[in-house]
Amino acid sequence: MANPPSTDGYSFDPFELDLDKAFEIIRRSGACRVGLQVPEGLKRAAPNIAKQIKEKTGAEVIISGDPCYGACDIDMALCQEVDIMLHLGHAELGDGPDNVIFLEARMTTDLKDAALNAVPHLRSKKVGIATTVQHVHKLGQVLKILKEHGIEGLVGPAGGRIKYPGQVLGCCYSTAKALEVDEFIFIGTGQFHPLGIALATGKRVVAADPISGEVSKIDPQPMLRRRCGAISRAMDARRFAVLVSKKPGQRRMELAKRMKALGEGKGKEMFLVYLDNIEPDRLLNLGVEAAVSTACPRIALDDAAKYRIPMLTPPEFEVLMGKRDWEEYRFDEIYE
Ligand code: SF4
Repeated sequence: MANPPSTDGYSFDPFELDLDKAFEIIRRSGACRVGLQVPEGLKRAAPNIAKQIKEKTGAEVIISGDPCYGACDIDMALCQEVDIMLHLGHAELGDGPDNVIFLEARMTTDLKDAALNAVPHLRSKKVGIATTVQHVHKLGQVLKILKEHGIEGLVGPAGGRIKYPGQVLGCCYSTAKALEVDEFIFIGTGQFHPLGIALATGKRVVAADPISGEVSKIDPQPMLRRRCGAISRAMDARRFAVLVSKKPGQRRMELAKRMKALGEGKGKEMFLVYLDNIEPDRLLNLGVEAAVSTACPRIALDDAAKYRIPMLTPPEFEVLMGKRDWEEYRFDEIYE
């Protein structure tokens, strides 16, 4: 996330947080103990938010000190200690513990300039629009700018773990895949989401950053080359770890078991490894030569350089095992 938030009062510039709504829910529930979980970008504001909750509701607050990567990453142990867990910054994914309240952080940044910057780079008269949750409330601005330039903008439907039309997650591009267009405009920061759209849809993607003002055409080839390299490096591995996340929205045990069975069927030694935060040092002493991550797809696709052993996604492991052709490369996504 961009600028560090102010820890002063209710100001989290450039984010908006409706803390009054959270105070009201906490008061109405009669909760005595409240858990507070915030993404790293808002963590500096956590003590001040905790203080505000105490003052406004009288409830005792326990801050989750662990990293928080998304709505998939609920601190389950803390959930059991508190009456209500306030999870800030992410949109709800779907099923989860009943005592979690999600309070999204919306960016105040306008999207008009980003859309205007992108227009000269678009080739089609009909384009799909995608963004992350911080900007979904301003997608109307993008639609308007495109219309003024004779371009029809389409926004894909919400559903599954996607709460808002047009929203994408690093692990889910269903809103983009639902659209019949030849081109997408992604409004947001970073390269991972637009790369995900390009790989999940096979379509041209123009990314417009509303913070920096930069526009780029996404080229998925360098990432595909890196992924092909990772598969090749895993070719001679005999012993694999199949990583299963403890995080509720990343846990794919059935998929992990299928990967284990697939590898064993090809004569590999396969071990299920259950862990919370997947970090390089956690794998060092296991003595495995390669890993398949069934957790957040970003671990294999975005963080691969951090690991000394090849780290594959499940579809990539299927390529390695000869179950899928490289030409059918599939971006790993989580739908449920
Ligand atoms: S699984 Fe990864 S990409 Fe999906 S919501 Fe969680 S952190 Fe984000």
